[in-house]
Amino acid sequence: MSSEDLLRRAAEIAADYLEQLPERPVGSASSADDMRKVFGGALPEVGESAASVLEMLAAKADPGIVATAGPRYFGFVVGGSLPVAVAADWLTSTWDQNAGLFVLSPANSAAEETAGGWLRDLFGLPAGASVGFVTGCQAANFSALAAARHALSQRSGWDVEARGLYGAPEIAVVVGAEAHVTVHTALQMLGLGRERVHRVAVDGQGRMLSAALARTLAPLAGRPTLVCAQAGNVNTGAFDPLAEIADLAAQHGAWLHVDGAFGLWAGASQHLRELVRGVERADSWATDAHKWLNVPYDSGLVFCAHPEAHRAALTAHADYLEQTAGRERDPFEWVPEFSRRARGFAVWAALRHLGRGGVADLVERSCSHARRFGDRLQAAPGAATRVEILNDIVLNQVLVRFAPPAGGDSRSADEYTREVIRRVQLDGTCWLSGTTWQGKAAMRISVSNWSTTAADVDRAVAAIRRAAEL
Ligand SMILES: *Cc1c(COP(=O)(O)O)cnc(C)c1O
Repeated sequence: MSSEDLLRRAAEIAADYLEQLPERPVGSASSADDMRKVFGGALPEVGESAASVLEMLAAKADPGIVATAGPRYFGFVVGGSLPVAVAADWLTSTWDQNAGLFVLSPANSAAEETAGGWLRDLFGLPAGASVGFVTGCQAANFSALAAARHALSQRSGWDVEARGLYGAPEIAVVVGAEAHVTVHTALQMLGLGRERVHRVAVDGQGRMLSAALARTLAPLAGRPTLVCAQAGNVNTGAFDPLAEIADLAAQHGAWLHVDGAFGLWAGASQHLRELVRGVERADSWATDAHKWLNVPYDSGLVFCAHPEAHRAALTAHADYLEQTAGRERDPFEWVPEFSRRARGFAVWAALRHLGRGGVADLVERSCSHARRFGDRLQAAPGAATRVEILNDIVLNQVLVRFAPPAGGDSRSADEYTREVIRRVQLDGTCWLSGTTWQGKAAMRISVSNWSTTAADVDRAVAAIRRAAEL
């Protein structure tokens, strides 16, 4: 088979998959052993044709593929892929650009520059902020906190990149008690320590309490300090009070970082922008494109209000790079990777396709679907005593807790909620996961897929009601 025919066949398989995606059982029933049988075995001594490998991969992987890109996947915060972004991603693979250097791909460098600027604008971030295209919000948090570590060390006269942290002046790190796990992982990787953080108390929605932040900062006066705030709690969708936090950080002289993996996208909507008021006053921001922008994995973004600190923390120095250094935008200077995929094309294509209005619409539609989940579940017969929505639905996240049919104590509500989640996952109409929110078991619904309709929400609600015997 010619390489052209091979790629046409792959496109045909992909198109068939996408056509069936909305009606495919959403979860996968494959066990690890099932998949090991499919993919396992010894490395063959002699290879086989590309066409046969492609057919085998497509057929055999299928039972282990989860319909996360489909309209009724509500697990974690995942997002699907806009067709235009999938198409751009195919081209990205075909072009096989190494996006590290300008000279390796002037096209990607310019796509990133433009898309980065559009996003700064959508999120309301400062025009001069630098941007890096990374694998996800974990890498974005890491990159941003590396920039913070640089700037805070430099203020104490310490070159942390050259000398490391041995003997360095200490940086105090302040996080909300509900900071995402990847903030802690970033601290762990940066030598700032996952457990030496000062944790600030939160309210019932998971929002940092600014009075508690003020109390935490007071004894840290005069010390280099990093404050990590959050836009969009992974369970409730709630936002830390960013304007109040920015005031306190400014008074203290702290570096303010905002983890806005999906919450930063609220800034793209006129109706939701109030949730991120004050966000532009931070020093660094981390977000995802593979969640709410609906581009294929993997795609995240880091922004920094201090480009010198951002670059100093992540750039590499080598004589053989001298031909481009400093003249054009070398993407590797803003990310932890050196060689990497040209993620700029899919992000650029998605934004160009949606436009400002389309991004706002995508975000607002997801939020209205989340409210519909809350309304419909609470309106079910018998729901008054058996369904509890644990969060204020301010964004795209819904936490639901179920009591068993006969009523029952709070422990049985924990068990019953987990049982309902298990039944829904098995049923296959939709998929969502469980969580524990402030000590209570809950079903966690996240709406972040471009293709989800109100009818999908209603089908999912019906499946959940069946599972909960409502
Ligand atoms: C998803 C998420 C992350 C991590 O993002 P990845 O893309 O999985 O690396 C970080 N913070 C928050 C608030 C998130 O929701």
